[in-house]
Amino acid sequence: MEKMQFKAESKRLLDLMINSIYTHKEIFLRELISNGSDAIDKLYYKSLSSDHTGLSREDFGILLEVNEDARTLTISDNGIGMTKDELESNLGTIAKSGSLAFKKEQAAKEGDEGADGDAEIDIIGQFGVGFYSAFMVADKVTVITKAFGEEQGWKWESEGADGYTIEEAEKDGHGTEIILTLKDNTDDENYDEFLNEYKIRGLIKKYSDYIRYPIRMMVEKTRMVEPAEDAQEDAKPEYESYRELETLNSMVPLWKKSKSELTEEDYNNFYKEKFYDFKDPAKVIHTSVEGMVSYTALMYIPGVAPYNYYSKDFEKGLQLYSSGVMIMDKCADLLPDCFSFVKGLVDSQDLSLNISREMLQHDRQLKAIASRLEKKIQSELLSLQKNDREKYDEFFKNFGLQLKYGVYEGYGVKKDLLKDLLMFYSSTEKKLVTLKEYVDRMRPDQTSIYYACGETVERIDKLPQTELLKDKGFEILYLTDNVDEFALKMMMTYEEKEFKSVADEDLDIAQTEEEKEAAQKQAEENKDLLELMKEALGDKVTEVRLSNRLKSHPVCITSGSDMSLEMEKILATMPGGDGSFKADKILEINASHPILEALKKAKETDADKVKLYTQLLYNQALLIEGMNVEDPVEFSNAICSLMI
Ligand code: ADP
Repeated sequence: MEKMQFKAESKRLLDLMINSIYTHKEIFLRELISNGSDAIDKLYYKSLSSDHTGLSREDFGILLEVNEDARTLTISDNGIGMTKDELESNLGTIAKSGSLAFKKEQAAKEGDEGADGDAEIDIIGQFGVGFYSAFMVADKVTVITKAFGEEQGWKWESEGADGYTIEEAEKDGHGTEIILTLKDNTDDENYDEFLNEYKIRGLIKKYSDYIRYPIRMMVEKTRMVEPAEDAQEDAKPEYESYRELETLNSMVPLWKKSKSELTEEDYNNFYKEKFYDFKDPAKVIHTSVEGMVSYTALMYIPGVAPYNYYSKDFEKGLQLYSSGVMIMDKCADLLPDCFSFVKGLVDSQDLSLNISREMLQHDRQLKAIASRLEKKIQSELLSLQKNDREKYDEFFKNFGLQLKYGVYEGYGVKKDLLKDLLMFYSSTEKKLVTLKEYVDRMRPDQTSIYYACGETVERIDKLPQTELLKDKGFEILYLTDNVDEFALKMMMTYEEKEFKSVADEDLDIAQTEEEKEAAQKQAEENKDLLELMKEALGDKVTEVRLSNRLKSHPVCITSGSDMSLEMEKILATMPGGDGSFKADKILEINASHPILEALKKAKETDADKVKLYTQLLYNQALLIEGMNVEDPVEFSNAICSLMI
């Protein structure tokens, strides 16, 4: 018989299993039972769809058998089974499940080898690694399987890292039988306990209680035997032992239990196992609704963003159950994009079981559930924000970006849902604040919500445009993500307060009559100078003007149109952005900066010098703004010409 080799990645995992630390070993049973339950699910769906199998729900189950003499534990299911090809590809190489991709990612973070890294051990402990976990307790694993509808059965066998064999085998009925020959006990590891009825019962209760098919085991029982009719008066009753199949799991799904019955640990363990996370969730939402459509939902806000969350690979959705039976793994229609990070499930008796996917999309009941869930998620997040700000900050770090995209997407349909969940960095509080907090603090003379854009908080803090507002004590929101300003522009207002960029032409800062007059007079006096400067810059700017918004900086650029400088920058970096979107730029000169005197003096003697200065000032303003100098060579020549 030919010996086949495991694929490289499987081999690595196998090594990890064989050498894993003892405390995690017991999860092998959970893993094998889940596989059995999944295999039954597959056949059960088949029986629900058009091709009749003649099977009904009561026919299915998982059987555990112990043979103490042979030191074997056998886990059998009457699910869909595997063909030879499936056996080869499923057990010869590790299934490309999402959890594996994640495990690899983690392993990569741990460094090349990392086999003994804490992260990997943790992963095994937290959610296991499927079929291969059998090798944590067994030195030989035998799989006998027959696919539903096939005549021929197959036997797969492996003693670990040196490969496996596949040969024909006899098997009654469809399904899979996994025979574990347990490892020998060692000084500090006792594998015999996996042959012990009480140990096995405990493991089923702990890990597999909610499995929806009966997990049965032949157990030893005793019963009293009444004395026979003709026995003597004082005959004592006798006891005899017998064996009986007993169902070990309650089969009640966790979400069907009442909240009072469940501990935080129950919720968290269920989450980590079911949704392949290694970290406890940030929030659990367990809700039951009775009414037009009745349903139970168990949703989780993950404690960490999935590694592929902000990529195209990520698939949103909740699992959909109809009276405890899963009918769809990722029902995308149940979650709006803005809450795509939510994991969980919905169970409703009002949805028909064999509903097709196309129909689901249009299902009115489904829409009704989705819209209730959306509000529920929002209100739970708001309560987190109110009651545990530290945790909310953490949540926002993970998923805030998605909320901001959510405001912008779909022409702002979700902006009202999301507006109170947003947070931005505040110039005065030096931390993330909500819009409500900002507005509640606004000064009586303030009409707008001020914001400034840039790459980092530090950079924004140095922008000339923020100086005066800060000086006057106004709070400014610092926007550091590309999507931020787009989101605010989509909202337009919050509690009727307009959003205003510090780079906007008109800042709405209240000025006294005298201030206004003085400014007008100064502009009048310098009219010729400003015209000359505008001429020097041509189409690059729409205007050159004197400014009172600046304090210590000589110049800045502001924008006069709806398109801000920040948006111009972002659009230029987007795929297909050819730089044709331009914001209207206004060059502002600080009216109280000595540079104005220098410009005036130059104008009296040498108009060319004014032009040179103007070029320099314009480019300087671009640089401060985080934009590129338009012609670096010209800029450099201009600086040199000042020196010689
Ligand atoms: P996962 O369950 O994460 O996909 P496993 O390593 O546990 O990974 O299993 C690999 C694959 O082998 C499964 O996806 C399934 O197709 C198949 N398999 C495992 N156990 C059984 C079983 N008892 N019956 C039928 N197929 C099974």
